[in-house]
Amino acid sequence: MFFACVQLHATLLIMIYTRDELFSVQAAWGPVYSIMSSNMIITQLKKTPAILCLAVTIMLPSCSKKGLDRDLIVISGKTMGTEYEVKIVTTETISKQQFIEVRNGIDSLLGVVNQQMSTYIDSSEISRFNCYEKTDWFPVSTETAEVFKQSLEVSEKSSGAFDITVGPLVNLWGFGPEKRNADVPSEESITQVMRFIGYRKISARLSPPSIKKKVSDVYCDLAAVAKGYGVDRIAEYLEFNGISDYLVEIGGEIRARGRNQRDTVWQVGIAVPENESGIQTVVSLNNLSMATSGDYRFYFEREGIRYSHIINPGTGKPITHKLASTTVIHTSCAYADAMATAIIVLGPGEGYKLALRENLPAFLIIREKDSFVEKMTPAFKKCLAPDEHRSNH
Ligand code: ADP
Ligand code: MG
Repeated sequence: MFFACVQLHATLLIMIYTRDELFSVQAAWGPVYSIMSSNMIITQLKKTPAILCLAVTIMLPSCSKKGLDRDLIVISGKTMGTEYEVKIVTTETISKQQFIEVRNGIDSLLGVVNQQMSTYIDSSEISRFNCYEKTDWFPVSTETAEVFKQSLEVSEKSSGAFDITVGPLVNLWGFGPEKRNADVPSEESITQVMRFIGYRKISARLSPPSIKKKVSDVYCDLAAVAKGYGVDRIAEYLEFNGISDYLVEIGGEIRARGRNQRDTVWQVGIAVPENESGIQTVVSLNNLSMATSGDYRFYFEREGIRYSHIINPGTGKPITHKLASTTVIHTSCAYADAMATAIIVLGPGEGYKLALRENLPAFLIIREKDSFVEKMTPAFKKCLAPDEHRSNH
């Protein structure tokens, strides 16, 4: 959840399988405190109300393990209510100054994205747009206009399953910035709010960059696409600075390019839903992004029913089908992020068909009695890591 505030069952476990060693770094310029030999890097991310708190833990090149003369540099911090991690592999020695510049560059661009798209910041572009009562064009940054356009494209493709106007429902169900006790809202309150839902009630244009609503009470929530967008921005920033071997991750949305410290293509694990240590499968990401949407990270339960933070804009209620997790691979992480949400809303049948129609690499994990069943598109099969990487878990 972008800029997540509601801490329900809010521990997110991301597993990044890299075939490197596990480093745990505790202090900005201090020593590496623990180095474990493992095939997995496990990062436990606690979703907290903190936003824009960019406390950074850093792994200096001098602290890193040498592998084929390739140094691994890790920069991590908090953003969007979750955590980010950037891994850079370099064959050159990076000075402390260069390192600080890269880290500061990442932090400031994440600050800008938050200031554009976070509904948790009252002065952000999106919050000001949400408060704007008129229905004429509202000027925004090119970035926000682009994310709106990309979101509308995914709404069209998914027949409205992905819909950023879902914000009032997200708030009503207790998953947004408007704090309330997690509880099941009345049918009347859902019907009331449904009047403001629908992606056709908004438009976006790039010149001049601006967005527009047809109904003044429309309220947009970019949570399902913004983490992916942030990943894309960091990747572009790294490339602009001549860095070509990297893995960028924000709260589970990932983009990787080039080769890892072992000089092989980055291998990334997809976690088993609700299992803190299991890896369902492993993919190779070569200049590609991967995003996952799941119903098991943020939810509350009432009378044995699970209410997740993924809302079906057609019913105004959280999804109820058996699709527990969807992973999508694409060059654009923002697009993968939005599509993963669209597919999980549509469910195992229609969601899978959408992925096939779009020739998208997609991996679905479906609940069946006490176990999970996998379903993958032919395009996803081509992204699977070589057998030896997948059989090691
Ligand atoms: P996560 O952030 O956990 O990776 P998603 O990318 O699927 O998961 O984003 C979920 C968030 O998106 C919700 O917390 C909510 O703010 C918003 N959202 C919920 N349902 C929809 C939907 N149908 N379309 C667009 N955004 C949604
Ligand atoms: Mg998403």
